[in-house]
Parts: sequence; structure tokens; C-alpha cells
Amino acid sequence: MPAPTPLRVEVSPALPAIRPVDGPLHLTVVYPPDSLMLTAVDSNFIFGAAGTGRARLRVNGVSVPVSPNGAWLAYLAVPSDGVYRLEATADSDTATLDRTVVLPPAATIEEGSAFVAESDEPRGSIALPAGELLDVAFTGLAGGQATLLLPDRRRIRLIERPLLETGSSDAADFRAAPAVPAVARSVSRYEAAIEVGAGWTSSDSETPFPTLAGPLIPPDTGTAVFELVVAEDTFRLPLRSTVVPLVDGVPRTGIVRAPDDAPADWMARGRPGRAGPFHWFWHRGTRLRIDGERDGQYRVRLTGSLSAWTSAGDVTLLPATSPPPVATVTGVRMTPLINAVDLRIMADTRLPIRIDGGERTLSVTVYGATSAVNFMQYGGLDPLIERAAWSQVADGEFRVDLELTEPVWGYRTSYDATNALVVTIRRPPRIDPRHPLAGLLIAVDAGHPPGGGTGPTGLTEADANLGVARALESMLEAAGARVLMTRTDAMPVDLGYRPRLAADMNADILVSLHNNAFPDGVNPFENNGTSVYYYQPHSLDLARDVQAELLRELRLRDIGIGRADLALVRPTWMPSILSETMFLMIPRQEAALRDPDVQRRIARAHVRALERFVRDRIR
Ligand SMILES: [Zn+2]
Repeated sequence: MPAPTPLRVEVSPALPAIRPVDGPLHLTVVYPPDSLMLTAVDSNFIFGAAGTGRARLRVNGVSVPVSPNGAWLAYLAVPSDGVYRLEATADSDTATLDRTVVLPPAATIEEGSAFVAESDEPRGSIALPAGELLDVAFTGLAGGQATLLLPDRRRIRLIERPLLETGSSDAADFRAAPAVPAVARSVSRYEAAIEVGAGWTSSDSETPFPTLAGPLIPPDTGTAVFELVVAEDTFRLPLRSTVVPLVDGVPRTGIVRAPDDAPADWMARGRPGRAGPFHWFWHRGTRLRIDGERDGQYRVRLTGSLSAWTSAGDVTLLPATSPPPVATVTGVRMTPLINAVDLRIMADTRLPIRIDGGERTLSVTVYGATSAVNFMQYGGLDPLIERAAWSQVADGEFRVDLELTEPVWGYRTSYDATNALVVTIRRPPRIDPRHPLAGLLIAVDAGHPPGGGTGPTGLTEADANLGVARALESMLEAAGARVLMTRTDAMPVDLGYRPRLAADMNADILVSLHNNAFPDGVNPFENNGTSVYYYQPHSLDLARDVQAELLRELRLRDIGIGRADLALVRPTWMPSILSETMFLMIPRQEAALRDPDVQRRIARAHVRALERFVRDRIR
């Protein structure tokens, strides 16, 4: 079936024409930098400047348009020798420049081998409950017979599967339509699932023994080996992993421990798989039930059917005889405060938690908790709380569901001296419909440095963001708001400090200003546009409003709003969004970002969106 054709909306950006620059002919390449290893194999972008808009430019023989200010951007086949050869002319002047990059290592098979390098799995230290299935696989010459030879001499047959070449997932995030994967003909994936602990253990001398391994397992049990027979030849590759079954004292109890230099608001983070977004956040001292280990991560058992992976470095294992992390909830109580309501879930142990926010709802899950709640105080007591109820969702899964009378503005969690979990639910600020921003404290974050992109003529993202942030600061102040700037000059500001400052100062809203860049392999001409990111559900409306106002103001392509696991949008204490207004590598967009008038228009779009968002929150 052919891939669906995306709806192409023609856009005519409302950006000023590029002002001409006519300096001496001077070729520069901003991207890719010299000796960079590309992650794209077929086509990639290259951009820089020529010093004059009159220049004519060829890159590897292909004519590349030069903007009136000398900036240029091209999307070209990656040169097979890794060298971009640039030639520019202006009148009788000529300039040449070679830019050499490193091509990504192809999935090649070395002489005398049948295995694609680094394609074998699993790797590292592994400890899993006996009987659990473990995936083993490698990529190698197609048409072979593959087995895994276990140390106890059993042979496990691997199944051959055709391999699809899909390219990097970073680039896929930006493409309007999915690339149609090609089938690799010369190599195949060989796969099997084996039961851990069915009488075998594999010990790789390069891999440390898993910390969860029991003392009874001898470390010299032999190594499992992949075997691939192609035609008459047999090739072997040892399993680069130490695999042991969990034996004594399983599951183990561990306790969350912060690194020595961690800030006060540090939390351990858990995710649904061993990679991917963070989904759980746990305070110091939280007790975890651990039933697996893989390559530096522990698997935390939350319920019978739910687990999370977390960094083993953030957990101290308790002795095998330690009691499991369970507790009884003896009470649930709400305490009204001036600017918040405290929900207190009383238990004597810190257990893993998760908070799920909705438009007007919050639900607090405590894993490992059993209810003994006879009396729950709520309702009538506080105008913010419409309804509150607890439920025992499953064995060891306790939940409190709250319905608020207003949209969720923000919340945070902590523990009191008795180890009761405290969820502090923020009261929405008082809003004057005629001056919706008056009196609010708005944190404005000019994204970067460190890091950030650079445009063809050398405008840095950090500078562009700061220009917009300054304009936004004065407009917000004119609207009666107080403004908290996370930076006011070119000095780098630590990423983690920015949202922490906003939360510590009780900012009512956090807005992080950015401009975008593409990963290798994406066609910038087809895929550029405006996007806004959020993470917490109570920030979704703000993201939508900012996106709508930016599109209305600049009429760039609509990339859409997205939920993204970014430090600046993860805070729970206030609505927070991160806007990616333009792409700095596009010459016309870079030129626009240098223009103070465009910076003011971007800022004004943010102000209109903030006003609309705040006004819509009034009951
Ligand atoms: Zn950025």
C-alpha cells in the first residue's frame, strides 16, 4: 500500500523581504562543521554565507541559490568521499572552500565475519527472574542457519527475519510523511527468545556481574555463543552479556538516593522501558521493589502488571532480608492554605507515586499502599475542591481522585515529617478580565546558552531568543505583569536551574522561547514551520493558544503542538510551554529573527496568547 500523501498547505510567510548585503566575496560554512560525523546517509542540508547577495554558488557542481544577504542553504546528496566542494563567483572574484565530513559507518560486515558490527543483543549485566524471556538477536549475512549455543551445550535456534532500512527516528519526527522503508537484501536479523535461568548462566569477562546476582552463582560458568552457518562456513560471536537468574531474596528492596550535588528538588526518574520518556518521578527515600537489572538500570515493580526502569546509580539496595516496600494508608486529609490546598496521604513509608492531571482533575496513585481510610475530609471545606474519593484499584495500588471547581493551575509533591505524602494544589491566581495579566508573575526563559543553533550568517539561537525575551519582558510589564527573566545577557545558564528558579519564585506561568533546528537528513525546505511544546496536561491550552497566535502573526507552516519530555515544560507548579517559532537555518527566517520588529511581533503573539489563556481560566 502506498504511503498516504500528506495534505500540503501552501504557506506564504508574513516575514519581511531579506535586506541585501553586498560585502566582499567570503565563503563560510556554518553547518556541517569540519570533521562532523553525519547521521544521514543519503541527503543532508548544508548552509553558510557568501558575503554578498550577488554571489553565484555551486556545491559539488550543483547550483545553490544565494539570498540577497549572502546566506545560502542547500539540501544535497551526501558526497560519497565526504567532501563538499564549494565554488563561488561574484563579478571577477572567485572563492573556493572544501568542507570535509565523516560519513556514518555503514552496516558493513568485516572481512572474515558474517556479523554486522555492534548489531548483537543483549549487552551488559543482566539479572532477571528465572523463567522470564530474554530477547537475543544479531544482524548477519542473509540465508544462514543461526543458533545460540548455551554454556550447558543446549542449542537455541534463531529465526531469520528480513531487515527494513528505516533511517534515524530523530529525522522521522520531522518528516511530513513516513519514508517507505527499503528491504536490505544482503543481511537479515536473526532472533530468538530464551528463558532466563533454565539451568544456564552466561558470563562475559568484559561485563561486570549484576549487582542483583545471588552469591551462589559462580562467575566462571562459561559464555553463550552465537553461531551462524552460511553455505559451508561457520562463524561465531560470543554473547557480550552476563546473564544470571535472580535467586535469593527476590525481589529486592531499594531506596532512592540522590547524587551528592543534587538540588533540593531532585527526583529519581522512571520510564516505561529502558529508553524513552520519563513517566514517574520519585523523591529521595522512596522505597522501591526491584525485580530486574539490565545494563545499569533497575526494573521497579509497581504492580503485578506494571513496571518502570530507573538508573541503578540512584538506588541503594537494602539487604536481601529487608521488608518489601508496602504501607497502609491510615488517612487522607485536605488542609486549606491561603494560596493552595494540601492533600495529605498518611502512610509511614515513602512509596513510589504517580500524579495524573486532567483539565479539572488530579489523581494520585501510591504503589504498594493498602487503604485503611475510614474517614476522608473534603468538600464544602474548600471552594477549590469539588469532589474527592479514594479507591483501592488493585492489590497494592491506592488512588485518590480529585475533581476541582476550576482548571488545574499547578501542584507539587513533598513529604512531611511523618512521611505522609503531601500534594500541594495551587489555587489559580485572581484575574481581572480587563487586565488579565495584571499582577501575575511570568517567567520568561530565553533558551540557551549552553547549546542552541546558528543560522547561515552566524546569528545564534541564544541571541535571537534573548531579543524576543527582552521584547516580551517590556510588553508583559506594560500589561501589568511582573516578569522573571531566567537570563538577561549572553552568559550560559544551566538548563536545570531555569525551571527551578521559576518554581522557587512561584511564577504563575513559564514561557521558554526557542527557535528550531533539524536533525541530519531532514529536508529543511519542506519541513520548516512553527511548533509549541508542553508536557503537563494543564499546559495544553496555553500551548494551543501560543501556536495559534504565532501562526496568525507569521503565517509559517503549522508543525503543530506536541507533548515533549523537555526540562522547561516538565514543571508541575505552573502552566509552562516552549515555543519553537522559526528555523534558524532558513535564510529568510534567520534574517527575520535579526529584525527587532519581527522580534516584537513574536513577543506580541506570545502576549496575546497569554492573555487569552488567562482570560479563559476565569470561571
Ligand atoms: Zn533551542
